[in-house]
Amino acid sequence: MAKTSVRDLDVAGKRVLIRADLNVPFDANGRISDDRRITQFLPTLQNVIDRGGAAILMSHLGRPTGDPAKDASLSLKPVAERIGELTGKKCGFVTNCIGPEVEKAAHDLKKCQTLLLENLRFHKAETIIDKAKKNPDGKLTPDQEAQRQNFAKSLAGLGDLYVNDAFGACHRMHVSMYDVPALLGPGRRAIGFLVEKELKYLRDALEHPQRPFVAVLGGAKVSDKIGVIRNLIPRVDQILIGGAMTYTFWAAKGWAIGRSLCEQDKVDLARELIAEAGDKLVLPMDSIATEELYAGASPKTVRGELPPDLMGVDIGPDSVAHFVGILKKARTIIWNGPVGAFEYAPFDAGTNAIAKAIAEATDAGATSVIGGGDSAAAVEKAHLSERMTHISTGGGASLSFLEGEAFETIDIIDDK
Ligand code: AMP
Repeated sequence: MAKTSVRDLDVAGKRVLIRADLNVPFDANGRISDDRRITQFLPTLQNVIDRGGAAILMSHLGRPTGDPAKDASLSLKPVAERIGELTGKKCGFVTNCIGPEVEKAAHDLKKCQTLLLENLRFHKAETIIDKAKKNPDGKLTPDQEAQRQNFAKSLAGLGDLYVNDAFGACHRMHVSMYDVPALLGPGRRAIGFLVEKELKYLRDALEHPQRPFVAVLGGAKVSDKIGVIRNLIPRVDQILIGGAMTYTFWAAKGWAIGRSLCEQDKVDLARELIAEAGDKLVLPMDSIATEELYAGASPKTVRGELPPDLMGVDIGPDSVAHFVGILKKARTIIWNGPVGAFEYAPFDAGTNAIAKAIAEATDAGATSVIGGGDSAAAVEKAHLSERMTHISTGGGASLSFLEGEAFETIDIIDDK
């Protein structure tokens, strides 16, 4: 069922609480090093203020620890400044997200103005739901529940309408993502353009893919990707495996893996996945290996099994050629996780070759969806972002979506 979009809300003269994902990275000098999450959210903000709404923005940034000295670097103030620069209109900022000062600023906000609240996670209540897992009955204690409710009421009281445009947080049942829209109630809840776009690309790929449909899954751990592999097996034509995950699968086949990373406790599971997927699961047949992993370490190409002194840190040239051949014919491609230790040149060659092959397939008409996180960083590093169909702003959220998880934070938004 389609969800109400921000464009369906009558925002004129209303205070619109927008949950955005403004969790941007900063460089060593405290400057925003990649503002994609801000720029991708601007169409929603612009839509609200252009139609006479007053926009109150909420976001998290990083993982505050409660230590004021460390948390000072997690203030959203520089983000307010960047929004002001990008929109050419001042973006107000308050040093908290609840409390009398915030209520006054929200109340005084005029139509077409924007106000950004300080980092939601400076209040433990925002993420308190995560504590439920640690409690013996899997539920919050009455005190934790009260903290959650009070925080939700304080935030919800700031606005008349609610827009979820924080795709990167959609897999988390945090207060600003779920309890606030729950409290605001029907007729006042919508998704923003970024969430709409992210869901469309991921859904289209999973539900109506043009074939051949190929997934490339890399990264460090099989355990992180089991859910995705299981959910994709019946849907895709092929799953290309890369990254350190390779060696857990090789161990399952009885191959020697030298000193490569391997999750010993997942070897049986890897064997099950190989049996379940049959020909669909394509494993690398060679590696770029090294004795120690650091930038500039000398690479050795090894076909097949690895000797005891080497670790495999990238897919080898035969695997690259095989994968590129498959990607060339693909009409829908999903990529999640680098196929090698791409942070350490020259062990980025396999990942770069995959990024280039996906860009070329996209140029030739395929739809490519890059699942955020490290794969998005690799595409960016290779200057290929513009050539991909869609690069997700949410690594964890897109992974959860590919696992087939239903997002309750989206379910709570009103149907169209
Ligand atoms: P993930 O967070 O699971 O997507 O894993 C990404 C990380 O896996 C990156 O930091 C890569 O450097 C790392 N990685 C990928 N392939 C390998 C490999 N063969 N050996 C060691 N690390 C790897």
